[in-house]
Amino acid sequence: MDVPVNVVVAVDGTSGSGKSSTCRAVADRLGLRYLDTGAQYRAITWWMLAQGVDVHDAAAVAVRAGEPVLESGTDPLAPAITVDGRDVSVEIRSDEVNAAVSPVSAVPEVRSRLVALQRAIIAPAEGLQGGIVVEGRDIGSVVWPQAELKVYLTADPAARAARRALENGGADVTATQESLLARDRIDSGRAVAPLTMADGAVHVDSTELTLDEVVDVVVGLVMERR
Ligand code: C5P
Repeated sequence: MDVPVNVVVAVDGTSGSGKSSTCRAVADRLGLRYLDTGAQYRAITWWMLAQGVDVHDAAAVAVRAGEPVLESGTDPLAPAITVDGRDVSVEIRSDEVNAAVSPVSAVPEVRSRLVALQRAIIAPAEGLQGGIVVEGRDIGSVVWPQAELKVYLTADPAARAARRALENGGADVTATQESLLARDRIDSGRAVAPLTMADGAVHVDSTELTLDEVVDVVVGLVMERR
């Protein structure tokens, strides 16, 4: 397949809409790198909790935001995230992190630090290092508005909760839905870089689609960008 050179695909959307599975599969199919920015916000949140920082005290979070060293791998088949050299890919999916990540992500100092990190991964100073699929909430609106393709991925809350509960080994669907919607509310209502459909984004509703069908749609949109 003749994939556009150095293409940047920005995928934003609500919690649990299938962004990670979709982005990883699209990147794998097209031979692109992959960046999970949600994992970075989760990792900094995990670190704040481990340090005993009050995650609901924005000033306390802000003063520590520059401390942890975060590293993200960009292999879609083996996404990796480390904090101060420690692999935290399991820890960042805990209920504690789920509950704390949106307040931490609303702190401007956290966002400015991570946005700089994300831009450096998308395009290092020496130039783009091959195309990349980047998932998050503000990729098409703030991090990389010049992306060749912007996708806004959503699904009905019930469908999102059912999928996420299944992924989490049969967790309670009602509690999962409440947790997803609580994050959506904070992510959409915050002052800095709220979740929104970026200008020029293509809206894909995955409620009635299988993962393969969503991947086909996004791959098709990338190939149209040639
Ligand atoms: O994508 P994921 O559900 O792992 O993201 C976890 C949280 O990280 C989101 O609910 C949001 O608060 C925050 N986030 C963000 N901006 C991004 C990616 C994630 O604020 N670009």
